[in-house]
Amino acid sequence: MLIDLHAHSTASDGTETPAGLVASAAHAGIDVLAITDHDSTAGWAEAAEAARALGVLLVPGAEITTSVGAVSVHLLSYLHDPGDTDLSDLLADARATRLHRARRMTELLSADFPLTWDDVLAQAAVGATVGRPHVADALVAAGVVRSRDEAFASVLATTSPYMLGLGSPDSVEMVRLVLRAGGVPVVAHPLARSRGAIIDEGVLEAMVEAGMPGIEVDHRDHSSEDRAWLRAFARRHGLFTTGSSDYHGSGKRNRLGENSTTPGSFQRIVAIATGLEA
Ligand code: AMP
Ligand code: FE
Ligand code: FE
Ligand code: ZN
Repeated sequence: MLIDLHAHSTASDGTETPAGLVASAAHAGIDVLAITDHDSTAGWAEAAEAARALGVLLVPGAEITTSVGAVSVHLLSYLHDPGDTDLSDLLADARATRLHRARRMTELLSADFPLTWDDVLAQAAVGATVGRPHVADALVAAGVVRSRDEAFASVLATTSPYMLGLGSPDSVEMVRLVLRAGGVPVVAHPLARSRGAIIDEGVLEAMVEAGMPGIEVDHRDHSSEDRAWLRAFARRHGLFTTGSSDYHGSGKRNRLGENSTTPGSFQRIVAIATGLEA
């Protein structure tokens, strides 16, 4: 039983359509796949249809951009009600903020590189959540860099003068919002230092106190020490742990199924979402 609970499609910054993502998952031997686009549920319907046809069990989800102070925190939400207007309005706001920020970053970059806003828009599917990866793809197309990796290591790095932050909702408040929308909140890659500053234990604890029942542990951005620390944290707080690929198609090195989640953890997600467990 191979369970991968974190993957992106062209509804955000993955390079495969929702149906293409599910087909790749079936090909990789994945039994249970979560589609978790950044701040969007736009890929759910197409992915669900493909999953039915291919015999993959699809878990609809999202990876919500939140923050605590200057620290960016990604919060996975599984099985929430997409019709919950509090949450869906917030995700719509997040996408609008991201579009505006990408446009401003493009303006800054266009002073020094051959890059226009149309070039960036050409890299994103209609309605997709726009982020730095699309700016990166436009820079690749313009011949400024060779890959997304190279863009993120240079002009799109968190320390770059072209980099702009994203004012995002509070992480602890978002845990409550996901729960109110019937979803199961799980913090994504909490110790991924390569992405910038990480949250301290106190914030993780506040998220747990707000009702977050699980944490992502097995992820390629976590060292073995990070994983051991997170597993101990999970034991202390009675949390389930997950492992996931964070697949982005050809946009990242991450391969489907490279990390996976146990059936026991997945059962807890289902039990919480269906109200069998508080
Ligand atoms: P943003 O949320 O717009 O600031 O962009 C961050 C996103 O870029 C993350 O969610 C990752 O999916 C993606 N990302 C970060 N580093 C890389 C990289 N080296 N190559 C490709 N994508 C990356
Ligand atoms: Fe991403
Ligand atoms: Fe993430
Ligand atoms: Zn992700």
